Amino acid sequence: MDMTLPVQTVHTTCPYCGVGCGVTATVKPGTIPIIAGDAAHTANKGRLCVKGAALGETLDLDGRLLYPEVREHGAMRRAGWDEALARVAGGFAGIIAEHGADAVALYVSGQLLTEDYYVANKFMKGYVGSANIDTNSRLCMSSSVAGHKRAFGEDVVPGCYEDFELADMIVLVGSNTAWCHPTLFQRILRAKEARPALQIVAIDPRRTATCELADLHLPVKPGTDVWLFNGLLSYLTQHGAADASYVAAHTEGLDAALAAADVDCSDLAQVARICRVDPAKLLAFYAGFAATNKVVTAYSQGVNQSSSGTDKVNAIINCHLLTGRIGHPGMGPFSLTGQPNAMGGREVGGLANMLAAHMDLDNPAQRDAVRTFWDAPRIADKPGLKAVDLFRAVEEGTVKAVWIIATNPLVSLPDADQVRRALQKCELVVVSDIVAATDTTAYADVLLPALGWGEKGGTVTNSERCISRQRAFLPAPGEARADWWALCEVARRMGFKGFDYAGAHAIFDEHARLSGWRNEDGNRRVFDISGMAGMGRQAYDALEPVQWPVLRGADGAIGATARLFADGRYARPDGKARFVATPPRAPVHAVDDEFPLALNTGRMRDQWHTMTRTGKSPRLSSHAPEPIIDLHPNDALLCGVREGELARVTSRWGAMVARVAHGGGIARGSVFVPIHWSGQTASDARVGALVNPVVDPVSGEPEFKHTPVRVEPFVVEWQAFVLSRTALAVDGVANWTRVQGDGFVRYELGGRGPAHDDWARGVLGVDYEADWIEYDDTGAGVYRAAHLVEGRLQACVFVARRAAPLPPRQWLAGLFKQETLAQADRATLLAGRAPQQGPDPGPTVCSCFGVGRNTICAAIRTHALETTAQVTACVKAGGNCGSCVPEIGKLLVLTRCSEEAA
Ligand code: SF4
Repeated sequence: MDMTLPVQTVHTTCPYCGVGCGVTATVKPGTIPIIAGDAAHTANKGRLCVKGAALGETLDLDGRLLYPEVREHGAMRRAGWDEALARVAGGFAGIIAEHGADAVALYVSGQLLTEDYYVANKFMKGYVGSANIDTNSRLCMSSSVAGHKRAFGEDVVPGCYEDFELADMIVLVGSNTAWCHPTLFQRILRAKEARPALQIVAIDPRRTATCELADLHLPVKPGTDVWLFNGLLSYLTQHGAADASYVAAHTEGLDAALAAADVDCSDLAQVARICRVDPAKLLAFYAGFAATNKVVTAYSQGVNQSSSGTDKVNAIINCHLLTGRIGHPGMGPFSLTGQPNAMGGREVGGLANMLAAHMDLDNPAQRDAVRTFWDAPRIADKPGLKAVDLFRAVEEGTVKAVWIIATNPLVSLPDADQVRRALQKCELVVVSDIVAATDTTAYADVLLPALGWGEKGGTVTNSERCISRQRAFLPAPGEARADWWALCEVARRMGFKGFDYAGAHAIFDEHARLSGWRNEDGNRRVFDISGMAGMGRQAYDALEPVQWPVLRGADGAIGATARLFADGRYARPDGKARFVATPPRAPVHAVDDEFPLALNTGRMRDQWHTMTRTGKSPRLSSHAPEPIIDLHPNDALLCGVREGELARVTSRWGAMVARVAHGGGIARGSVFVPIHWSGQTASDARVGALVNPVVDPVSGEPEFKHTPVRVEPFVVEWQAFVLSRTALAVDGVANWTRVQGDGFVRYELGGRGPAHDDWARGVLGVDYEADWIEYDDTGAGVYRAAHLVEGRLQACVFVARRAAPLPPRQWLAGLFKQETLAQADRATLLAGRAPQQGPDPGPTVCSCFGVGRNTICAAIRTHALETTAQVTACVKAGGNCGSCVPEIGKLLVLTRCSEEAA
């Protein structure tokens, strides 16, 4: 590397959640880029959450897919791009020729940049001639998309982040904003600090970190949101809170929506019974909503991921239409996007039931508009297969080739073992990824190495319609190439014209021009960024974040738009929004005697998706190192499982194993399991394998929030952990989890059979000549050993009958930093106790400063701390990104309660 190159600061965006924070990467040749929040970006104004702040720890090339590979005689081998692309193009062309266009499919991702997405959609819908392109955004956003289209006529989020600061009431529905959209939540908290009268209402079956700082928490029964918001619609009507003139001038359909709501939601006490909430709290919410003009109702996966997700979205929007609270500062329904570019994918039509530029597949004029603009030989004329149906069709053999880009459906889809069966049978599986070994790449016939964050350039659109640049600041590793490039190369090899782009800027330009194409008065589409057409490479490279629509005025000036629908004109020929009647319905599969608990799934604070990036950071891995099964202590008692021990969760579709935890926020009858663990990080913790493949009938979004399950003990004879400088093969152990530490890999194990000298040496790959120290108490079932190489700790293993007596991992982690293991440490290591061991800091709460739960609780008790700010001043926790502030708030309450009880 040329060390004389100057230090450069590149402005880019975070690749994780839909807040879309601006990031600066300061690059000095020969050093790891320094990542910071971009003070100039409107989404985060310089702040980052702990995931964004740790991006620099995820940039190494360990485990990267760096070269194309093809399957030959059952095994993968390295290939050149030419051979791999020819295999894809030839395979797709042959299958299309023999079986038709619908026999091939693309399955893409909200992680893609808009330019990649645009080309993928054009390739399938305009040239292959099939709409069989769907995306993992189907799993998180499609109910919001469908709800927007039913209400507004187009998939549009009317408001912006500033509305959260201007609102007098924020209702967070099915959204653990504190963990899943942390910098936005911090913005809300700062607004609340400045203006304590701002009311925060959290509606969530679980008492999440978000609920800790809310003024009011409604712990609704899972799946009853439609009853709750139908009840609100009735209440607002009964109590004179409707804006009759707005409804008359700008909407249609109120009578039918009210009639549906009134069937069993006109009586508050009955709604409270159905939703299983305190009637007084429900009244407080309804009355507060009625009396407050500036209300933002923000919702996320707890609303979308349901067999009635679209109705939930419309039940919420109905209440805002009734009160005319849309499009003005501080008010409106607000869909919080999960992924960094879910909205960009929707702009280009990346879902199987959409066309590009917010045009519709079932609109002949719009189909013709897109085909003409692309000068395409054909255009898909019917919706393609949505995610769940797509992989069913693969298993049934009607889809014979699938190209999976930037996603891991073997982990993330419901009934995930069905996806495995599908890929095993599929004639041609192409996977484009940055990671070599994922659960999905194992089934690939062709592997294409993609560019990762920091290496690729393009645009993304966040939850508030803000288009930002992601910019490259690292060289492309190995032979990795942009996804749009690979798609264009395959298209060219299939004889398709229109894929000769000079770069990502040229794709964006075409996308911008298409958005304004035949976008005329009388049938105007709101999504119009034609003001950005014709920018050229330089202007594209310099592009500042901008909220769409982006139009060019008569004077040539470009104008962006923070809020939409302020004039009450919606995206329909008559300009009116629609109320949607939402008769409530229960989840498709009810709990029963065999499966008496309802499984809910979701994210952890410091991890992202299947941990291919965040799992590399020891700091992020310290917050929740293992997969958990969170359930109420009384349910645990009934199931015969204990906190800290392993348990199996089983549904009609599959099973998984994880450690029992009592997070303290879950109601009786529910079980929560995080989504992040794959076959690469745990033996048996893919929660997707359990989830029922039921989908919302309108959006096709799966019901990730409700699957009937049972929980039972997972019996092992011993528990153990291993810390090792090198990765180990632990497949023979009954249960394992792999966690990245600082300079070592940690394995948490549960097994059966002897676990002493021979077993330990076998796991660590150590022969009898090695420098090996051990302690063995067979009677007590305790075994400890360490392997040293030239006096340096190489690995250690600790075994006990139960998890509880195993020593804290933090102390042992510190020994891996020593060049030579001191004699005293050898002795204490075998004793399983640190020398002059201070108090155990406990599980990590603040990842930024590595502060544990026990440290925080001790500080609260010792110094009689009362506020989160005082805790920060005392032990630093919460003083950087703020992601852990809600958990500190909870610890303040718990510690106070335990003192009062004492
Ligand atoms: S809130 Fe965190 S994860 Fe989301 S975009 Fe910002 S830094 Fe990234």
